[in-house]
Amino acid sequence: MSDTILESDIRLGDRPLVVSDIDEVVLEFLSPFQAYLESCDHVLLPRSFRLTGNVVHRETQEAASEAAVNELLETFYATQDRWQTPTLGVVETLRGLSRDADIVFLTAMPPRHATVRRALLDRLGLPYPLLASEDPKGPIVQRLHAGRALPVVFIDDIARNLESVQTHAPSCLLINLMANKAFRALAPAPADCVHVAADWTDAANAIRAHFQR
Ligand SMILES: [Mg+2]
Repeated sequence: MSDTILESDIRLGDRPLVVSDIDEVVLEFLSPFQAYLESCDHVLLPRSFRLTGNVVHRETQEAASEAAVNELLETFYATQDRWQTPTLGVVETLRGLSRDADIVFLTAMPPRHATVRRALLDRLGLPYPLLASEDPKGPIVQRLHAGRALPVVFIDDIARNLESVQTHAPSCLLINLMANKAFRALAPAPADCVHVAADWTDAANAIRAHFQR
């Protein structure tokens, strides 16, 4: 499988579609990023739902600039296979769902890091196709699903991405899932139509119920 696949490379079966974000949903992001920062003499403080301003030097407590945070993120993503781990229950849950549905990963990570992410996902037992795009997620889900009369599900930690999919693929079941509890408490609340899942077991129950509607 190529590491940088295109939307047009994805072949869906005649069955439901589950589109899932990666960071904070399938792979832990914030906890490993905190561990990585500590290895570079920085810490991430859960003061608000953003990275810039909350990444500070361990000793001086001085906030890293946006450019410095971007550089830290760049190195983290380039070496993510040394840091990122699967979220609780994701491997078994997706394996179960993949018997009845197509699963596609949609990550907003810069596509230049897709090779290392693909290898990490494969090693963890998450072999589903990976799209890496920084474009809004709604139009991508709309094009993938293409108005089929089949159930479609979208899972993400970011309210903005869920709203984008709601706008462009209104029949989609929207699920909010976020691994890091400290930052989850600081996140903007998703819209009322979004199912806020406590974990992958909760998400799987909502997805199975949606398949049967
Ligand atoms: Mg995410």
